[in-house]
Amino acid sequence: MPESGKNMGVTHGRFAPSPTGLLHLGNLRTALIAWLAARADGGAFTVRMEDLDRVTSSRDHATRQLDDLRAIGLDWDGEVVFQSDRFNRYHAAIDELAGKGLTYPCFCTRKEIRDAARAPHGAEVPYPGTCRNLSDAQRIARAADGRQPVIRLRSNGEHIGFDDAVLGKVTGTVDDVVLCRNDGVPAYNLAVVVDDSAQGINLVVRGDDLAPSTPRQIHLGRLLGLPVPSYAHVPLTVGADGERLAKRHGAVTLADLAQAGVSAADVRSMLAHSIGLADAAESVTTRQLVDRFSWGHLPREPWTVHPRVGSRQS
Ligand code: GLU
Repeated sequence: MPESGKNMGVTHGRFAPSPTGLLHLGNLRTALIAWLAARADGGAFTVRMEDLDRVTSSRDHATRQLDDLRAIGLDWDGEVVFQSDRFNRYHAAIDELAGKGLTYPCFCTRKEIRDAARAPHGAEVPYPGTCRNLSDAQRIARAADGRQPVIRLRSNGEHIGFDDAVLGKVTGTVDDVVLCRNDGVPAYNLAVVVDDSAQGINLVVRGDDLAPSTPRQIHLGRLLGLPVPSYAHVPLTVGADGERLAKRHGAVTLADLAQAGVSAADVRSMLAHSIGLADAAESVTTRQLVDRFSWGHLPREPWTVHPRVGSRQS
């Protein structure tokens, strides 16, 4: 817990991992930065498990992720929230948007969307709008084919800008983002907006791979009459090959590193050094880091790690 009374409630940050595996150094670094940003302001900090996809997520992974956060010295206020317990809230928000005529069912497959946009395999393409203006008869015919539709937002190509504590001014265009998958599972972009507001989060710190999603999240929040939080998108952590850090890069989790003789306190030092708050291999407490934290110290480029067992991270 933070020291009570020190502007408690002014800033409310969060870390929102998906419990689909163990946290790696990049996730832990983002968590540390999110925690520091909140605590340095005397604020509250929440952990939310984004386990919308119950096939890839598990409570066991969530437990291990929480253990790892504790091991590097992080704490949080209140109960950990699990998105899988909150589907009613997300469906209520989708219903609210539907009631305003802001949604439509979309029967397109990924392949059809890609083909319509003539995009290479794997590329994320804006939805070409195929199902936007289907007549009732066309919708009935599509449904009769046995296809379950996703639910999309009816956007107007709105341009949304925001000031990011790390990236500066960011702008983007809102698309017809999916709100609900065709298996009835609410989509991340919707759930995150509902939860950040419901939990009183006013500072969202996360990886900069999510910055392009932020304009659509801000737009969704406005449509639902919710307050817009402040954002800080932090650079990703990459392996020596420049690719986003992953298991294949070597010892990247606390469990792997412990086996190689690297303790959680060593990892905290490594992370602190990587965000400009400690000398290399300096032993630091989270309390010291809270006192040293400033966005100005955070390097603006990706953090490259060389996770060979026994080697030092750069
Ligand atoms: N659950 C997302 C992830 O693990 C993060 C979402 C967010 O912070 O908004 O990538």
